[in-house]
Amino acid sequence: MQMSITDPRTTVAAKRDGHTLHPDEVEAFIEGYTAGEISDALAAAFLMACLLRGLDDEETLALTRALIASGDTLRFDGLGVPSVDKHSTGGVADGVTLVFAPLAASMGMAVAKLSGRGLGHTGGTLDKLESIPGLRTDLAPDQMRRQVAEVGCAVGAQSPRLVPADGALYALRDATATVPSIALIAASVMSKKLAVETDLIVLDVKAGSGAFMKTSVDAMTLARACLALARGWERAVRIAVTDMDQPLGDAVGNALDVKEAIEVLRNEHQGRLRELVVAFAAQAASVTLARDLEEATSDAGRALDDGSALECFREMIVAQGGDPRVTEDPAGVLPAAPVVVPIVADREGTVASMATEEIGLASGALGAGRVRKGDPIDPAVGIVVRCKIGDTLEMGEPIGEVHARDDDAAREAVRRVLAAIVLREGPVAAPPLVHAWLE
Ligand code: URA
Repeated sequence: MQMSITDPRTTVAAKRDGHTLHPDEVEAFIEGYTAGEISDALAAAFLMACLLRGLDDEETLALTRALIASGDTLRFDGLGVPSVDKHSTGGVADGVTLVFAPLAASMGMAVAKLSGRGLGHTGGTLDKLESIPGLRTDLAPDQMRRQVAEVGCAVGAQSPRLVPADGALYALRDATATVPSIALIAASVMSKKLAVETDLIVLDVKAGSGAFMKTSVDAMTLARACLALARGWERAVRIAVTDMDQPLGDAVGNALDVKEAIEVLRNEHQGRLRELVVAFAAQAASVTLARDLEEATSDAGRALDDGSALECFREMIVAQGGDPRVTEDPAGVLPAAPVVVPIVADREGTVASMATEEIGLASGALGAGRVRKGDPIDPAVGIVVRCKIGDTLEMGEPIGEVHARDDDAAREAVRRVLAAIVLREGPVAAPPLVHAWLE
């Protein structure tokens, strides 16, 4: 039965007073906002009431449904191979998508990935990819589908016609201190994933000092909310809660991230970034290709070792207009910063913790990130930090470098990175890479 909503203020008042909203009421409110019939002021009051009072699973599903209904959906069926989408809630040195897309494609899956740009301390896949000369990410839906069918993977920008209500509401949340609500985040993240119809969604919910969710408990709560939405929508999903208490890879920037991803694809870089990508690709293959998980893990490792994932990456770059020589000679093709200053440990000790958000912000301050949506970024600058929690450092040991436009900026970034790394005496256990898998 369709409820008739006469005055949207009654919806806001009901949520303000702690009542559970009927799904039709939530949907009508979002429809009204999208149609321009509800003011930003009333929508902001609605968002604050949702943040303070919470939304149950049914209300969150109704919100997600309304967000999806505000725009187009994309289909990736009829490809002859299973389609997979992958999303991270955002982190530092998180180049997973750059490696995952071609790796999964080389294993017989089709990866259709709509990505975003970096904001605040987190990096964005589109910014990273666009540091490859010539590469375009503004792929029209038909072009994206064709590329996925021919190459096996495509990474493009989300069209403004996909979930437009989320774009408008997210901007309003940003302006009204209503971002940090688990239900609102889950609906925002999942609406964009559910609007793209793939056979599997792989979701990476980051937990730690460089993530939105600072604790694994909060990240688990968000992961469960996202899982409930996928179930409500009857979509297959694998969700990992993963460590973001330290940068995942070593490179925090744009061209620097691409260079590191290519090193992983060339089998020249071991470590946590490779380990996580292999785990995601193996999970995806176990679900969509019915591979045994252990065998799929070996398949993924082999596709990195033998160059087949690198070849898919090269084909994706060609299809998107980029310079494919980057896969052979990243340093010769990617933009480089004029000033490179080493980061050197200023005392000895074991790395006990890393203020990861601060490292992301330090890279952003060099020009690698943006404070406001639409700000320009500098693809060449950034930070490389090669130590991880549990590593023992000698005083004077080189632990990375800063790539900057000038000496002053470089010096300031070195200072910030060293202050972000806490050393102590004695052994320190490395945090687990994956806290939990949910399905
Ligand atoms: N990322 C999103 O897409 N939405 C949120 O609300 C938070 C992070």
